[in-house]
Amino acid sequence: VQRVGKVVAIELQRGTARSIERRWLCVHLRMTGRLLCSPAGEASVERKARYLRARLELDGAVLLFCDLRRFGTLRLCRSIDEAAPTGLDPFSPELTSQRLGALLRNGKQAIKVWLLRQDRLAGLGNIYASEVLFAARIDPRRPASSLDRTEVGRLYRALRRILNKAIQHCGTTFSDFQDSRGEIGGYRRFLKVYKREGMPCARCGERIQRLVQQQRSTFYCPSCQTL
Ligand SMILES: [Zn+2]
Repeated sequence: VQRVGKVVAIELQRGTARSIERRWLCVHLRMTGRLLCSPAGEASVERKARYLRARLELDGAVLLFCDLRRFGTLRLCRSIDEAAPTGLDPFSPELTSQRLGALLRNGKQAIKVWLLRQDRLAGLGNIYASEVLFAARIDPRRPASSLDRTEVGRLYRALRRILNKAIQHCGTTFSDFQDSRGEIGGYRRFLKVYKREGMPCARCGERIQRLVQQQRSTFYCPSCQTL
């Protein structure tokens, strides 16, 4: 099992040692998707599987895909590259601060909107885009190309630090998300701005504000993240 951008890619094989056929099952969980693995014969896992949308029988296990809101997708691909977004992964060794600066240089969009595009940088969603910009003290409305080298450096470090910590804590849970072990995401308690409109900024005490950029909410501190 691998992650490419926001996609969970599961390698499947069939056949004999002489002729193995390989496919990649590429799963995008979106908002409420959830993968459950049930070792064969373990009926208790299947009983717990609410909102079951797909059931895949593998050798020695059953893979279940549950999704309350049905935004999730499953794709069968011949290679992992088919599923991979074109953007660089934030953890790729190719993504250096210099490379990020070069990518940002032509960005006319607001930095928050730019960060959500999967064709330059893959894997960053709405929650972490706000959190990363707060950590880097960059106003979400700034044009991507306006960031200077110091700011790009701060953004680069915040990106890796926050995503690393979020992964360690199994992400952020708001409604009923659970990971494949049935655990909820523990990163929610570390959120500094997301869904904290009107609450005091942890850094300066100013009230966190919300604005809408391309129909998505952005949360920021107007005092720490100045234009
Ligand atoms: Zn602040």
